[in-house]
Amino acid sequence: MVNLSQNLLDAAAAHPSRIALKCGDVTYTYAEFDDASARVATLLGDRGLVAGDRVGLMLPNVPEFAILFYGALRAGAVVVPMNPLLKSREIAYLLSNTTASLLFTAPAFSGEARTGADLAGASCIVADDDLRAAIGAAEPRSTAAECTGDDTAVILHTSGTTGKPKGAELTHAGLHRNAEVTVRTLLGATSDDVIMGCLPLFHVFGLTCGLNASVISAATLTLVPRFDPRLVIDTIATDRVTVFEGVPTMYSALVAARTDDDATDSLRVCVSGGAALPGQVITDFENAFDAAILEGYGLSETSPVASFNHPDRERRAGTIGTPIEGVQMRVIDADGADAGIDTPGEIQIRGHNVMKGYWNLPEATAEAIDADGWFSTGDVGVKDADGYYRIVDRTKDMIIRGGLNIYPREIEEVLYEHPAVAAAAVIGVAHPSLGEEVGAAVQLKPGATIAEDDVRAFVKDRVAAYKYPRRVWFVDALPTGATGKIQKRDIVAPLATQEA
Ligand code: AMP
Repeated sequence: MVNLSQNLLDAAAAHPSRIALKCGDVTYTYAEFDDASARVATLLGDRGLVAGDRVGLMLPNVPEFAILFYGALRAGAVVVPMNPLLKSREIAYLLSNTTASLLFTAPAFSGEARTGADLAGASCIVADDDLRAAIGAAEPRSTAAECTGDDTAVILHTSGTTGKPKGAELTHAGLHRNAEVTVRTLLGATSDDVIMGCLPLFHVFGLTCGLNASVISAATLTLVPRFDPRLVIDTIATDRVTVFEGVPTMYSALVAARTDDDATDSLRVCVSGGAALPGQVITDFENAFDAAILEGYGLSETSPVASFNHPDRERRAGTIGTPIEGVQMRVIDADGADAGIDTPGEIQIRGHNVMKGYWNLPEATAEAIDADGWFSTGDVGVKDADGYYRIVDRTKDMIIRGGLNIYPREIEEVLYEHPAVAAAAVIGVAHPSLGEEVGAAVQLKPGATIAEDDVRAFVKDRVAAYKYPRRVWFVDALPTGATGKIQKRDIVAPLATQEA
């Protein structure tokens, strides 16, 4: 098996009548999903697409995403997933960067998509009734295009905090194995499972752990087009969802939205990743939902899963667990030597999951992956004596205050312990003599009223004096990215009015 899309043919052969995709009232069995994808593959061939060509996919979480994704792979294309909220200039950049000649989108996003495709000289196809009719009229392609495991299946543009987005080239074998190991050793998923698809499928977490994992296990993927905590809780109840996957902000939103009447007892396993999961959120979620959260870690460049808290080992809250099968991790010091136990350093990853490289960027690739295959993550972490890893923070998020290093995550953990705090993000703000000062943007729970001074005092009691946030301000909502992760770079500190 080398073409990732072979998993769909296999699932359809073994479980033809099992519901594969569900979105509101719309359902596709595995036979129907496979048949529609098989026709998409033919349609793409009829349009002149040849193996290796790039195809843009700019859709929210609707069944068409899955059908077009697997159809394009079956035809041998390389899929370039995109956030449907992108504007035409951004779309044009991604299409030109990958010289994609086709872009699929949904009707609601066709305005920007068409302009973006025009700018890049690509054709835009809207997933509407005309396309459905054309798919229905095409002959199904019964086999997946031949390729090697090392062929690129997906080019995922990583958000990156500076510069233009870079396209991480993820391979058929890397994506397959990452989803397969996740299914077998983390989710334990089978065709009896119902996986919640609220993470965007255009992001690597939703793509691998949601869509691809679901297809490998022939489970049902129940899609919600946008994360809305009430809708998600209702969907858990009506569809008897067994597997929930999300980023930390989703877990806190679910806790806030749940009522005692909600039937969420079907949940069997919950997985968090994408950002640090505050200890308080774990406690609150597990009390409310009576289901354990297992935290994992990874990046777009690593397909994404690199480590997690394995269900058959002791769960260590606050850690990202141990490396998954086929993946190695290490922590290195500033000189590139092994940092040793309990000493912070940069985390590096090597294994099946590491991308081939950044598309058309050999220098950036050589900077990211060394000659021995170690990929530098830019995350600071520590390994304990039992081999569990803990993320301290992103290298670039570290605050240097008067020469002292402060990791925002440590302060955020404390802020989340405050009963009035719904969410918090700590950033460095410029300071004339110290270089940087600690700033905290705090979102309060509905109805909560506390003063900035209370927040300062709460943290000051719990951390070394140089670390507590001198600058505190309240926000209605913290800016979040596509997956719901807090986007620190979009937080702007208000002018200093209340420095302590
Ligand atoms: P992305 O490429 O968008 O998936 O972002 C990857 C980044 O998310 C990593 O480099 C980490 O900084 C962060 N990340 C992912 N999982 C975790 C986690 N469990 N704890 C802390 N940070 C995480």
